Amino acid sequence: MSKGKLFVISGASGVGKSTVLRKVLDARQDLQFSVSATTRPPRPGEIDGVNYYFVTREQFLDMIARDEFVEYDEHNATLYGTPWSQLENKLKLGNVILDIEPVGAGNVRKKRPDAILIFVKAPSMEELEHRLRGRGDTSDEQMKMRLERAVWEQEQIGWYDHVVVNDQVDACAEKILNIIAESCVEE
Ligand code: 5GP
Repeated sequence: MSKGKLFVISGASGVGKSTVLRKVLDARQDLQFSVSATTRPPRPGEIDGVNYYFVTREQFLDMIARDEFVEYDEHNATLYGTPWSQLENKLKLGNVILDIEPVGAGNVRKKRPDAILIFVKAPSMEELEHRLRGRGDTSDEQMKMRLERAVWEQEQIGWYDHVVVNDQVDACAEKILNIIAESCVEE
């Protein structure tokens, strides 16, 4: 199906993954972001079709019924999924990166054992909680759910190919760029 290499990046909500990922995508024009579908509403500044495809639960369930997802998962009371159309079309053009959590990453690995899995870890759980609270879009109940989820996600790092700590955004992006460069040289 593909010409490009497939990278997966995971990391708990609030770890700063989106900022790191933006830097990585800016630095590598050959790397394309696979846009997921989600049932959560857009955050300020997020654009439909760029950050996510924002769909209703009904639309998402229809997409599941039509077998349109490579993988999907429900967490934090929200559905998230990687459309086949995104992955296949973008892999035909070059390298692709997915920003998905560990359940999805495990399912992608089953379908594409050659995928390179990278986990972005917070320096500590205290720091993660601090960053999540600073984001201000999260109610107490959501915060509790996200923190519990973050603990579980951090327990999954053992089966990732690479773990990178995000204590400094530029340094973290640089480490990920090195991993990508090395993977693209190996053939
Ligand atoms: P957020 O709501 O903060 O954008 O994302 C919450 C979590 O959902 C993040 O860990 C993100 O990686 C994950 N996620 C985003 N898109 C997908 C997807 O298509 N599939 C799966 N399994 N997880 C996703």
